[in-house]
Amino acid sequence: MIDEALINRNIAELRQRIRLIAQECGRDPNDITVLAVSKTRPAAAIRVAASAGLTNIGENYIQEAVDKQLELQDLPLQWHCIGPLQSNKTRLVAEHFHWAHTVDRLKIAQRLNDQRPSTLPALNVCLQVNIDREPQKAGVAPDELKNLAEQVATLPNLMLRGVMAIPAARDDTAAQRQTFAAVRACFQSLQGEYPQMDTLSMGMSRDFPAAVAEGSTLVRIGTDIFGART
Ligand SMILES: *Cc1c(COP(=O)(O)O)cnc(C)c1O
Repeated sequence: MIDEALINRNIAELRQRIRLIAQECGRDPNDITVLAVSKTRPAAAIRVAASAGLTNIGENYIQEAVDKQLELQDLPLQWHCIGPLQSNKTRLVAEHFHWAHTVDRLKIAQRLNDQRPSTLPALNVCLQVNIDREPQKAGVAPDELKNLAEQVATLPNLMLRGVMAIPAARDDTAAQRQTFAAVRACFQSLQGEYPQMDTLSMGMSRDFPAAVAEGSTLVRIGTDIFGART
């Protein structure tokens, strides 16, 4: 069962925390979008978040997301794909999402571009950067980011909007901030060339305060909104 009161309370607390952190570092809290990450949660939970004003929804598993979209057609939601993008999944993403955060190679970008229906606006894209250079992790290496951006920027059905990262888990805030600062540097190095880039997608429940302090414009929050995933 969905605990509607709990979700509402969590969202209020989350907003308050973001407001305080933003204040401390002299940022406008309105510049920070909360993406409600709803993998494994039922459509009814998303409905609660949407009523509380969270209309950007992040999903990892494409088919699961498409099923929920069908149930939530009456709501004006923006759907963000934040899960791994394999070739056999690009069509569903191109046809059913507003954003893809995990583009990390040209082949995937090209498929999304080719499969984006002409009736829809360009798909908003963030390039995922493997900031800690973890061999098992998705993401373009930081020194190859510029090259990928150049290629993606030429694809007419994609709109290059930003950079996304999932740093390795670290307990201490100073270490978290150091990594997020490196992601921000990657982002800013591209912004000069691509002024439409306005989205720095970083920070999850465990580390969003550090991410906001380092300039995140979009935090991806699941646990702190919906509770622990079981
Ligand atoms: C699941 C997930 C999140 C949200 O994680 P929480 O710890 O539940 O806030 C954010 N980003 C990505 C890429 C995820 O897969």
